[in-house]
Amino acid sequence: MISSEIITKLETIVGERYVSDEPEIQYLYHYDFISAEPEGKCDIVIMPGTAEEVQNIVKIANNFKIPIVPWVSGINFGGIATPRKGGIVIDMRRLNKVLEVNEDDMYAVVEGGITWADLKGYLNKHHPDFQAGITWSPPGTGVIPSHLCYGMFNLGMLGGTGAEFINGLEVVLGSGELVKIGSCSLSSYWYGRQPLPDLSGLFIGFEGTTGIITKMAIKLWPKLPFRTDYLPIAQTVEEGAPMMLKLAKAGLGIIDLLFINLGWAQSLMCLDQANVANDPVELGLPDFLGLITTQAYTEKQHEAQCEAIIDICKEFNLDPLTLKEQMKSFPENMQGIMGHLTPSTGGQAPVQFWGCWNFSRGGGGEWVGSYNTTRNVVKYYQLSRDVSLKYGKPPQYYCRFMFGGHYCVTRTNINFNKNNPEEILNARKCLKEIHDAVQQLEGSIMYKPPLWAVNYYNDKMDRNMYQLIKRVKGLLDPNNIMNPGQGIEGEK
Ligand SMILES: Cc1cc2nc3c(=O)[nH]c(=O)nc-3n(C[C@H](O)[C@H](O)[C@H](O)COP(=O)(O)OP(=O)(O)OC[C@H]3O[C@@H](n4cnc5c(N)ncnc54)[C@H](O)[C@@H]3O)c2cc1C
Repeated sequence: MISSEIITKLETIVGERYVSDEPEIQYLYHYDFISAEPEGKCDIVIMPGTAEEVQNIVKIANNFKIPIVPWVSGINFGGIATPRKGGIVIDMRRLNKVLEVNEDDMYAVVEGGITWADLKGYLNKHHPDFQAGITWSPPGTGVIPSHLCYGMFNLGMLGGTGAEFINGLEVVLGSGELVKIGSCSLSSYWYGRQPLPDLSGLFIGFEGTTGIITKMAIKLWPKLPFRTDYLPIAQTVEEGAPMMLKLAKAGLGIIDLLFINLGWAQSLMCLDQANVANDPVELGLPDFLGLITTQAYTEKQHEAQCEAIIDICKEFNLDPLTLKEQMKSFPENMQGIMGHLTPSTGGQAPVQFWGCWNFSRGGGGEWVGSYNTTRNVVKYYQLSRDVSLKYGKPPQYYCRFMFGGHYCVTRTNINFNKNNPEEILNARKCLKEIHDAVQQLEGSIMYKPPLWAVNYYNDKMDRNMYQLIKRVKGLLDPNNIMNPGQGIEGEK
């Protein structure tokens, strides 16, 4: 419960219009799709319009020891923005501007609440020769959270996780101080984090528990004139994955490299549950769909790249059809979201591929998503598939190779109906069992982990690393007001 005196102080900072403690507004800010309970509930929501306003809110929260949760759209799939201890949700979405684009050093400086739609729309309009790495998440989700939470982008083979796309930060600490990090701390350029001590790590992977980012510089990349997306299909993941591993080390201008199983693809087709084959392998349906995107500066270079990709596909007996060609073989009513890949986008990925989740009323979804060694991609699928089928769930598997093939993401999604307590229970058991199973594989580490997984990793982690995180967290957020109940608690 927040006193009316404090609410008045907050209204003085941002204006009455941007503070609310109405129950329907509180309700909007508690939700995530995951199976974990209980979801948190905030006392008030506030929408600052400047970094200074963020600072003033944090200072008040500090004086009165009120929890604060930075928030953009709250659908991160880990429950990491749900206000577990109540308090103030700081909805960042008024901070939604692109402040600068530097085409020479290829970066954009953006505000802390910008969404993918804001960013992509702006770049397409004003800098059409440049692109940011984007997620498959819905257009209204946040750019900053994705970068801070090791998001996976459609340029993952070029740049790695979202965290590796960060050039610099402006951040409000738990104490209310405003700090600049990276080259922007010494100049007006935000070209990188080098060569100073790199403090950006104090905010990456911390899930809003150490500071609130008000500005971030992110890397942009040139959109080269020649580009092809291939969609090879194989009967099984075991057959298709080795080809991807070879491609991951081949260069060839590949900017995105991933594969999904049919379970994932079926949901992109927007099939309803009754028409989804739980076990495509048993039915003899092809269970492997790869996506290879390559780009080049000249036609000749592109031809050579495509030729090499085709050769590698053939070496593994796979048909190197382009995405455009493959889409023609799908009946129109089965194209679903993938249908967007045909005419209006010129047959090119990416579209924001969020169709694998059923968000109709009651929709729930959660994953066991891990960063991983590329050695485990097949084994991870086999283990998680077996568990999913045991629980009567179609496994939805996705594997993306990152940063020139140096590591990868492996992930199995489970859908369920959030209005059905039995289904939630079943999904939760299934997810935990998948997690236990893939823990047999060295190196599978969940990103954006829900609480049960946080506790698991806290116990498993090197003790000195754990203690160091606690000390850092205690230093940056001495009153433990920043998104409390998430991640590792700071040392007092
Ligand atoms: C259908 C679907 C598909 C998705 N596909 C992808 C994908 O392909 N790749 C991918 O990476 N992700 C994906 N996601 C996950 C997620 O939506 C994205 O990472 C997204 O951008 C997170 O944004 P959000 O606005 O929901 O974050 P929120 O849930 O609002 O925030 C996430 C975390 O960041 C913190 N935070 C928010 N703003 C700030 C700030 N300014 N400063 C400090 N901390 C902050 C929050 O407190 C919270 O801990 C997907 C999600 C959905 C629903």
